[in-house]
Amino acid sequence: MSHFSYRDGVLHADQVALDRVAEQFGTPTYVYSKSALLDNFNAYAQPCAGRDALVCYAMKANSNLAILDLLARQGAGFDIVSGGELLRVLAAGGDPRKVIFSGVGKTVEEMKLALSHQILCFNVESIPELHRLNAVAGEMGVTAPVSLRVNPNVDPKTHPYIATGLKANKFGVAFDDALETYRTAAALPHLEPVGIDCHIGSQLLDDAPLLEALDKLIELIDTLDREGIHLHHLDIGGGIGIAYGEAGESEPVAVGDYIARLFERIDAWRAEKHAGRAIKVIFEPGRSIVGNTGVLLTRVEYLKPGQEKNFCVVDAAMNDLMRPTLYQAWMDVKPVVPRSGAAHTYDVVGPVCESGDWLARERKLAVEQGDLLAVMQAGAYGHTMSSNYNTRGRAAEVIVDGDQVHLVRQRENPADLFKLETLLK
Ligand SMILES: *Cc1c(COP(=O)(O)O)cnc(C)c1O
Repeated sequence: MSHFSYRDGVLHADQVALDRVAEQFGTPTYVYSKSALLDNFNAYAQPCAGRDALVCYAMKANSNLAILDLLARQGAGFDIVSGGELLRVLAAGGDPRKVIFSGVGKTVEEMKLALSHQILCFNVESIPELHRLNAVAGEMGVTAPVSLRVNPNVDPKTHPYIATGLKANKFGVAFDDALETYRTAAALPHLEPVGIDCHIGSQLLDDAPLLEALDKLIELIDTLDREGIHLHHLDIGGGIGIAYGEAGESEPVAVGDYIARLFERIDAWRAEKHAGRAIKVIFEPGRSIVGNTGVLLTRVEYLKPGQEKNFCVVDAAMNDLMRPTLYQAWMDVKPVVPRSGAAHTYDVVGPVCESGDWLARERKLAVEQGDLLAVMQAGAYGHTMSSNYNTRGRAAEVIVDGDQVHLVRQRENPADLFKLETLLK
């Protein structure tokens, strides 16, 4: 069930009318539904019930503290990609022992921070990173739990910017080098290889590439076993894609069906080769937890008819929501209070001084100046990717809980944006 629907001619988030939210908090504002968030988390957690499994929410998709807190209370772990994200987990009351640390460029400081909080695992992406982590752990007198991010070289069939498991990507260790790299890790005194992971890409609508990647990880776990390197967990990376609502778009596979198929393979493998062996399964979903839980609420500033195109200039821009500019992503735009008048075709654009500043192109809309629009499915890689370009404060964020609205991030004040800057003496 969608948590965003029309009631009495007004788009609502659960029981809350979005025009009311705009009145109270202004625009642009991100509006999230708490119940949608919990439903999405449960879509992963429920099929994992009773199993040795952990859902580590990939918090780069949306790292608002209130979102992290709600998920932590459901038992979520977190997939982090920076020291800053670990500090957010701690600030939200999350458990650092359920944190895995991904990313190709971990600094010494970030490693120290993560080791001091005894995170679950470092997802290591290169041999130099193994050496650095070994040195840092040695200095601190601890052992670092590591997993290698292996590149299964499976084509995820997604946008090239969000395909990450191919040989040409900067991420991970090549499948053919994995065994040698594990040997290196196992020989380093302050590292303990505990797991294996991959992340082949984002917005995957089909689970076949993920299951293909799983088979490759399983193959490596068996090879490593024969070498005397026994891993305790298998991390399959990010989640399933979501429906953005574009005409002709294929439906994403249901999360529950994907997880059922994944466990079916894992169970068959364990029954055949490793009866009784414990192996924890870790998921790192981001988009599918938060993507459809949020919309970006924006107001029409001007309608600007042109010779070739009509522009609908709104108060949200590429700095608020970068996906269209960055990935040519198609995002649905809905009027908050639909009008009966004639619809025209518009490009929905922001005020930023870039031709690439658009949110949607060639959309049929019946709108007038001052109307409210909602950019749908904006909960993932929306606010977290926003910037202050053009000295624009970041949008406010609110969470709807039934008929209540909570401000969870204030709109940034432009004066705050330059308070860290100083003039020359
Ligand atoms: C971004 C990312 C994810 C989350 O991917 P989604 O497609 O949003 O589920 C998971 N793991 C890693 C390592 C990532 O970089």
